[in-house]
Amino acid sequence: MLVRFFNTAGMNKRPFTQKLNVRVAIIVAVIGVMLSLSGSVLVFRLALDKQETISYRLVDQLAASAVKTAAIAAYVDDEELANEIINGLMISDMVSGARIYAGQTVLAANISNPDQLPVVSPIERELYHPFNEDELIGELDLYPDTAFIREMALQEAQGSAIQIILVSFLITIIIAGTLQYTLSMPLIKLKQAFETVDPSNPENLQKLDIDYKRQDELGYLIEQINGLIRAVRANFLAERKLRLHTEKLEQQLRLLFEKASIGVALISTQKGILIENPKFNHIVGTNSSLTDFIEIFDDPESVSSVIASLKASLNSKPIGLDLSYQVDGSRRWVHCLFATVSDQRLVAREEDDVLFEVIVNDITDRKEREAEVRYQAQHDALTGLYNRLGGEKRLQYLLNESSADFSCIFLLVDLDKFKPINDTYGHDAGDVVLVECSHRIKTLFNESTDVCCRWGGDEFVIGFKREALPYSSLNTLCNTLLHSLEEPIEVSPDFRVSISASIGVAQIDEAGKSVEHWIAIADKAMYDVKSQGRANYLIT
Ligand code: GH3
Ligand code: MG
Repeated sequence: MLVRFFNTAGMNKRPFTQKLNVRVAIIVAVIGVMLSLSGSVLVFRLALDKQETISYRLVDQLAASAVKTAAIAAYVDDEELANEIINGLMISDMVSGARIYAGQTVLAANISNPDQLPVVSPIERELYHPFNEDELIGELDLYPDTAFIREMALQEAQGSAIQIILVSFLITIIIAGTLQYTLSMPLIKLKQAFETVDPSNPENLQKLDIDYKRQDELGYLIEQINGLIRAVRANFLAERKLRLHTEKLEQQLRLLFEKASIGVALISTQKGILIENPKFNHIVGTNSSLTDFIEIFDDPESVSSVIASLKASLNSKPIGLDLSYQVDGSRRWVHCLFATVSDQRLVAREEDDVLFEVIVNDITDRKEREAEVRYQAQHDALTGLYNRLGGEKRLQYLLNESSADFSCIFLLVDLDKFKPINDTYGHDAGDVVLVECSHRIKTLFNESTDVCCRWGGDEFVIGFKREALPYSSLNTLCNTLLHSLEEPIEVSPDFRVSISASIGVAQIDEAGKSVEHWIAIADKAMYDVKSQGRANYLIT
């Protein structure tokens, strides 16, 4: 539009007659010629008629001036006087002949061109008696020289016509010059000034360099064009500033989006993932469909229900979820924040479609640290078994799961005379014994279903479901455990120690009792064994 508006290049290639000043000159010249021709013809005709009328009137006046004298000549019948009168009249170039009648007789006559007489009608003046004005005594006929009069009138008319032509020509030139000066020249200057405007470089658009001070239509036009140029330049600069700002903002946003340490994706319930940043891709992989995205998590149901609740209410608050998923055999964790896009109208979508954004933050490290802390809080650092805190919790789970009578067994194992090992071979040797005993206990039980914990010092608690008992009976289990613990323990390459243990067994035969309750029962049984000589077990 801008280029089209300013495009004047083609104007220079126009034919000569297409140029405005030439066209104006031609039009003015044609009008001038037509006016001067028609004017001169009109003036010629008028001048011709007027001149002939004047001439004939002069001849008539001449005849009138001679009437008195001719009447005297006719009265006295003086031929000589009549001839003198006629000769006097013939002096005028406009008179070609004259005749004086006395009565019916020609008194005197002078006809210079007798051939004309039949075609020229004379000016007839009646002659009356000098003393009696009622008595007709003769006639004076005066013949105008029509050829001369015509010739004179023609000359006069031609002169007038030529004057008109000259005046018209002069006026035409003045009009053409005035038009050229007042209209064509400024228009040509305007065109030339306009040609210097370079639309391809709007930044350097300058107002038209034209010196035109008059406040007429052209001045108004120049003012308007300059206003337009100013507006175009200002618009361009503002638009460029805005564009640069937008580009910068877009770059920053893109950078933020692409380099963000959190994953961001826009997801449509109908069309799947619409846009995702590299981090999102890196964390949860490339999933084009919503189902693929949901299915990567270990708990897809939670994700589906979150999405369903977002779909149900577009104004619901963002929902956060900690989700785990598997990558190359290891578990990773992410915190996902699901939120509906606030203005769903911004993006064209189908009727049933809901757009929501997902912000994904990798929290695997945090989860692992938390798990580590949790593990440490619930496990014994020396033996790796559950500590009392962790053990109690796990034992409680066992109790909760086992409702039937005797469905659960608690063993309380206390090493016999462990203290002397510490005292005799040192604390480290005691630790080795504790670690080895723990290991032997662990190997006899199922790590995933049974609970093995170090209750404190040289005391261990083992809980398991009766149905998971790997031996034919509790007695076999207890004997196997005792024998296992009594195997010599290698404290150092050249030194071994032997130890025994006392075991109290509590068979849970009642629901609703606490862990402490059943431990106390096992503890009592264990102490009974101690008091009866150790290295044995007692089942209550
Ligand atoms: P009993 O046969 O009556 O059980 O006598 P005992 O010597 O085993 O004495 P008791 O069970 O009462 O004492 C346990 C000892 O275990 C007391 C403590 O010094 C020792 N002990 C507790 N924790 C540790 C530990 O982490 N490492 C070592 N090396 N010794 C420990
Ligand atoms: Mg002991």
